[in-house]
Amino acid sequence: VLTCSNGCGAVPITDIRACLLNRVSPHRLQDLTLDLVRMPSPTGRTRGAAMKYADILRSLGLTVSLDQTYPDAPSVIARLAGIGGGPTLQLDGHIDTIDLAHDQPHAADGLVYGRGAADMKGSLAAMAEAARALVDGGVKLKGDVLLTAHGLHEAPTGHGEGLRALIQKGVCGDAVIVTEGGSDSLPIIGKGMGIFEITISRQGDVLHELMASPSVLNPILVGHDLVSLIRARTAELAGVELPYVGPESYFVAIFTGGDFYNRVPTSCHVIGTRRYAPERTFSEVQDEFQEIVQVVQRASPGVEIALQLTRIRDGLRLKEDELIVTVVRRAYEQVTGQALPLGGAKFVADASIFVQEGRVPAVYHGPRAERAHATPEYVAVAELVRATRVYVLSAIMYCGLA
Ligand SMILES: [Zn+2]
Repeated sequence: VLTCSNGCGAVPITDIRACLLNRVSPHRLQDLTLDLVRMPSPTGRTRGAAMKYADILRSLGLTVSLDQTYPDAPSVIARLAGIGGGPTLQLDGHIDTIDLAHDQPHAADGLVYGRGAADMKGSLAAMAEAARALVDGGVKLKGDVLLTAHGLHEAPTGHGEGLRALIQKGVCGDAVIVTEGGSDSLPIIGKGMGIFEITISRQGDVLHELMASPSVLNPILVGHDLVSLIRARTAELAGVELPYVGPESYFVAIFTGGDFYNRVPTSCHVIGTRRYAPERTFSEVQDEFQEIVQVVQRASPGVEIALQLTRIRDGLRLKEDELIVTVVRRAYEQVTGQALPLGGAKFVADASIFVQEGRVPAVYHGPRAERAHATPEYVAVAELVRATRVYVLSAIMYCGLA
């Protein structure tokens, strides 16, 4: 029998879960999210918000340290130590937000408004509130609960370097819940993504179309040839469906060239994305793309074609029966009474860094965040409560009750 000071009174150990879930406070979650949102933290300038979050976690009794590899974007590392003999569950989020202005943060009608509320300071508040419930509830876990918050996430300024620094230093759990995304389904697969920029250029000057000799190639038409091959390859790729996330793809977003109706330009640019299967390495993807470029290059020696492909994130794939997958789905079911189906991650984010570079299983699960990157940006307090409860039960199940 445990004594709960939160109004449950003396409860049998079997009811400790319900007791802990009752400790999750919507008011605290709202206030904490507001506090974090009020401290602006655009990518690359997150020191103030990180310090604030570190203070909050320290006040809960966690052991807190900072990774200062990037002094303007330090990472917060907080640990709720278990008694030993169990695995470590990591809850991880990014503290930076996109760098776009927003109205004054405020709360109304069960929603918290402000830049970063949905992406993802509400999630950071939920991580802290989950730790608080575990601490205040007096439960002892076998394994540790590790909370991490890092910057340098949001493109184009961030490339995941804050998280990579943590992993390189060995700050990593045995399994990870990345606390954004995955509110409707639990992604066990995600495609990798690279951004390509192709420049097609020729020597010489911009010329009147009537003055240019037939040997002068028009880079725009060469670009057209290249895009045709890209489309053909995309059609081939469309024949192989990956579960939950659809086929691999090339996507052309920007095609520019020329400056006047009768001038032959000297260059043309094609920009887009390449999304690839989790089993493919980035260098394989680069090689394939380079082969396509070389086909056009050989046919058009009068221009120079340069391909730059930048990796944003590799893909990830988890086993359906991976322990953290089972744990989060079971926790979700116990909290909501509904099943959390398996699914795929359409967007690229941090779980793939954990899986590919940290070699640990990582899932996405956070509050519903359909207003991420939106104006106004907001998150529902009820979603924060739900996510917090899922984290509490996941910690108990994954780390083990002492
Ligand atoms: Zn995010």
